[in-house]
Amino acid sequence: MRMLKHVGKKIAAQLCRLQAKANSPLVAAGVPALCFAAYWFGGENGLIMMCMFLPAVLLVLRAPIGKPMPARDGLTQLMMRQDLIKVLDQNIAGQKATGRETACLILSIDDFKGFQRDYGPEAGAKLIKQVAQRLSDTLRERDAIARLEDAKFAIALAPILRADLENLIQLSARLQSALSEPFSINAAKVYTSCSIGFCLPRRAPARSGAAFLDAAEVALVDARHNGSGSIRAYTPTQAPVTLDKGTILAEAGEALENGQIVPWFQPQVSTDTGTVSGMEALARWEHPSKGVIPPGAFLPALEELGQLDRLGEVILYQSLMSLKAWEEAGFDIPAVSVNFSHSELSNPKLIEKIRWELDRFELAPNRLSVEVLESVVAASDNDIVTRNIWALKELGCQIELDDFGTGHASIANIRRFAVDRIKIDRSYVTRCDLDPEQQNLLAGILVMAERIGIETLAEGVETVGEHALLAQLGCGHVQGFSISRPIPFEKSLEWIDTHHKKLAQTPSIGRRAS
Ligand code: C2E
Ligand code: CA
Ligand code: CA
Repeated sequence: MRMLKHVGKKIAAQLCRLQAKANSPLVAAGVPALCFAAYWFGGENGLIMMCMFLPAVLLVLRAPIGKPMPARDGLTQLMMRQDLIKVLDQNIAGQKATGRETACLILSIDDFKGFQRDYGPEAGAKLIKQVAQRLSDTLRERDAIARLEDAKFAIALAPILRADLENLIQLSARLQSALSEPFSINAAKVYTSCSIGFCLPRRAPARSGAAFLDAAEVALVDARHNGSGSIRAYTPTQAPVTLDKGTILAEAGEALENGQIVPWFQPQVSTDTGTVSGMEALARWEHPSKGVIPPGAFLPALEELGQLDRLGEVILYQSLMSLKAWEEAGFDIPAVSVNFSHSELSNPKLIEKIRWELDRFELAPNRLSVEVLESVVAASDNDIVTRNIWALKELGCQIELDDFGTGHASIANIRRFAVDRIKIDRSYVTRCDLDPEQQNLLAGILVMAERIGIETLAEGVETVGEHALLAQLGCGHVQGFSISRPIPFEKSLEWIDTHHKKLAQTPSIGRRAS
């Protein structure tokens, strides 16, 4: 069946191509040459045949096949937004007669910008094409798929008996699972995840294709706020969040000053003991009407506003204050990890500021882990950045190399910046318990780290299986959704308490004996 579907699509595409060619000026120019060739090879009879059949062939090729071909997305050959809306309109109109319902889903590859940054735009285009192919292989032939922009796709579900929450969640999970298999991009194996928002017929704000699509978009924004890999259904109470660049630029600076941008905390756990070994501070904009906005949506605006240093100050202050508060509540959280931008690391006054903040809270410098992106270290021929990282190290702070494995940092750089711990990027961790190639890569990184005497933490640990394998391979610490999503400070006290209680009851996952 899938084979037939594939062949059918190929023939349709071929006809479209021929049609396009038949309309081209090249064909017009070639007609006399064809007639001459017919006369040369076939004499008068050849010429007569050519004159009889050529117009018919051209007519067939120039005639639209069935109905006018809709405009297609150049990269994926999928339909585009307007045509998907038309399909939804038709499906909605047909419901009265057939009793069958349609729904609209929008799916977006998580952190596609980051993917393009790491692998380049050409690889980005290849990924989009492969995603499009997987989606059409997974969905039924009558479901319509459109590419909206970048790595965002919309689906108009061919009418079914009941388009309800359960069915749509199942379908979304099936799509996520199809896209969770690795993609082969330029001979490299690449893992991605996707977020999905959908609109059910009974919850749609209006009975039109455009309304279904808009509602699915609102649900997708909500899903993405909740972190990668999320699925959300549209509910009429959801605010139509508009996160356009203009709004964010206009509001972000002020939000920073009036305390709406705060750190949330994600626990890091030792694979040896199961205890909390630290907390990473991740910025969140707690918007009064739009909900919680993740950093990917506002960091570029703050950068454009020249406010990244100010963000750093706010996050550092609140993180140290939280560390002190955990201490006062009787919890032993060894350190808090704070992300430092290139701009902050280029500030000649950075060390003074950090020393002052640590003094203010009477915290030893080793309670602060400074996270530096591997790409910043790799690209750094900047004297101030190098001097600052060294000065932080000498002060007693811990230096961590973030997103390790994505940015070309060499062992020489790990030495040059006196790195204490590498944070192994999520792309090496995803499905490491199921994929032997991932395991080999991880094992290689962990052996290298052990030999040169640096600590390791694996990021984006989403399953118990991944956690167990990392512990077995000797990775020192883990962080990810399987342990906890980032949480606001107010919830952290309860989380730590519950974690301690669970730890007291269950045996911890032991590390591989070495
Ligand atoms: P990062 O430093 O690599 O942070 C890890 C990101 O992975 C976080 O995204 C976190 O929510 C997400 N994450 C954690 N566990 C999992 C998991 O199991 N699965 C998946 N799929 N994702 C997981 P978030 O909070 O959206 O932050 C994105 C990036 O924004 C951070 O990446 C960091 O580079 C930057 N950032 C966040 N807060 C700050 C900040 O205060 N200052 C600066 N300069 N950058 C920040
Ligand atoms: Ca980080
Ligand atoms: Ca990271």
